[in-house]
Amino acid sequence: MLAAPNKDAAALLARLRAGAAPSEWSRVPVLRGADFAAEVEAHPPFGRYGVLADDLIRTGLATAALPRPTPIAWSRADLDREAALGARMLRRAGLAPRGRSSDTLDGGLVAPGTLAVTDALDALDALALPIGPIVDPAGLKRAVEVWEIVRPDALIVDPASLAFLRAADGYPRPRLFAAILTPADAALLAAPVERDVMRILSVPHVGTWIAGECPAHTGLHLADDIHAEIVDGRLVLTPLHRAITPLRVDVDVRGTIDPSPCSCGDPSPRLV
Ligand SMILES: [Zn+2]
Repeated sequence: MLAAPNKDAAALLARLRAGAAPSEWSRVPVLRGADFAAEVEAHPPFGRYGVLADDLIRTGLATAALPRPTPIAWSRADLDREAALGARMLRRAGLAPRGRSSDTLDGGLVAPGTLAVTDALDALDALALPIGPIVDPAGLKRAVEVWEIVRPDALIVDPASLAFLRAADGYPRPRLFAAILTPADAALLAAPVERDVMRILSVPHVGTWIAGECPAHTGLHLADDIHAEIVDGRLVLTPLHRAITPLRVDVDVRGTIDPSPCSCGDPSPRLV
C-alpha cells in the first residue's frame, strides 16, 4: 500500500508550479540525498511525495546522489515526458532522427539504465541497440560483432565504458559518445571539453534527463520542466510535473546557471 501523499507538500507544489516568487521557494527546506532516502525508507515504498495510487507503471532503484539504492517509480505521463526530454537531449548531442546508436547502460532495476535510453531513442525515432557495459577486450569483441551489423554512429555510454572505449582501438570509432553521468562523476562533469563526447547529467529521483551538452560545449542545457536553483554553490532541483515530486533536492553537483544565449541557438539556460 502506498503512503498517503503529504497534502501540504502537494499544495505548495501547486503554488510553485503556478510561478511562485523566489522568496516562496526559499521557504521550502532543501532536501539532501540522505533526507530523501530516509523519507522513502520511513514511508515505503516511495515516501510521501504526492504519489497517486494506481498511476505508477515502472519502478527502479535510484543510486545517483543518494546514500543507498532507493526505490523510485514513474507514471505513464512521467515516462512519456522523460522520453521526450531524452530525445531532445540526444538530438542536441548530435544524434539525428533515424540515426543509429548503441548503448552500454545497465538494464533491469538500475536507473539511469538502458530502459530510459531506449524510450528516448524510440521517441527520437532512432535505432537502439542495448549491449550492456563494455569494460574489457572480450566485451568489446562481442559488441563489435553486433555493431558490424548495425554500424552505430553514436554510442550512449556509462562512465566505465566511456573510459574503456576511448582508450581502446581496433573497433570502428563512433562519431560521438553520449555519456550518461550522475553526480558521482564530478571529475568527468568538470573535465575539459572533448569534441566527440557529449555529457548528459542524470539524477533519476529528480529526472533521468537533467541537462545535456550541445556542440558548442558551453555547459549543459537544463531540461525545461525542472526548476533549477543554485543554493550555496550547489545545484538544487524540483521536478515540476512528476508523479513522485520531492521538492528542492540537493543533487550534490557544484556549479552555476548561465542564462545567456548559447551559440547553438537553444534558449534553455546552461549548467556551467
Ligand atoms: Zn548550446
